[in-house]
Amino acid sequence: MDSKLLEQVVSVLAISNNTVVVTGAGISTEAGIPDFRGEKGIYRTMGEDRVMSIINISTFQRDPKRFYEFYRQVFDFPSVEPSLAHKVLADMEKKGRVKAVVTQNIDGLHEKAGSKNVIAVHGNADRFVCTRRRCGKYYSSNQVREMKETVPECPECGGILKPDVVLFGEPIQGYIDARERIMAARVLVVIGSSLTVYPLAGFVKEFSTFYQDLIIINKGPTYMDHAALVKIEVGDSSTGEILQEIDRRLG
Ligand code: NAD
Repeated sequence: MDSKLLEQVVSVLAISNNTVVVTGAGISTEAGIPDFRGEKGIYRTMGEDRVMSIINISTFQRDPKRFYEFYRQVFDFPSVEPSLAHKVLADMEKKGRVKAVVTQNIDGLHEKAGSKNVIAVHGNADRFVCTRRRCGKYYSSNQVREMKETVPECPECGGILKPDVVLFGEPIQGYIDARERIMAARVLVVIGSSLTVYPLAGFVKEFSTFYQDLIIINKGPTYMDHAALVKIEVGDSSTGEILQEIDRRLG
């Protein structure tokens, strides 16, 4: 941990009355969920194009069996608990140091850790929704796990259930809310995102065009490192410990 960089982050956060945090898959690797682009990520093992061709809205509509055979292997997180990083962020929100979290993750770990003000732009894998318009009933992932068929069906009307997550080819959830939150921030802290996934990466870019105080905490490079006031390279240390140290120094 570079003490000087941490001190710089602390001095910026200490005078901010509106700190917003943007998180990506990297914040959940310390909870045991692999990211897509990291060493063990499925983009490396399977190839990005192949992954995108399956977790895609048109594959879901045309061939839900193919979709679910893959989806159930990759996005079922029954017993995952929040990491230290999720917990520190929830605690910082309680203390009024973080106003909101805008996340690309679908694992629900920010909410599980106790964060209240969370905008999950890619939805939540814990919920499933019936695709029949007139039904639209919601089910929990626990209920769906108990359904034996590969493609889960609504017990009420027989419609196919869809995970309540944003698939490739679908618009993100809370677009306006997420953009407004980010653009209204005094300090924006990006954690565990390569900033390649749009439109969220675009919001961060827009923020950095107008304001100075962008902080990035990530393992490896991101597309906005050049624009950051401070970039903290996580390297072999942990994001949880870095956030804990920042919170401790804030007093
Ligand atoms: P991404 O673009 O957000 O990249 C993840 C970044 O985090 C990478 O740069 C990686 O090097 C970094 N990272 C890994 N471990 C880290 C750590 N301990 N601390 C800090 N940084 C760390 O995300 P992606 O992997 O390219 O996935 C693309 C999209 O797929 C995501 O935006 C998300 O919607 C979805 N996804 C969600 C989950 C989840 O919900 N947990 C997991 C995988 C993918």
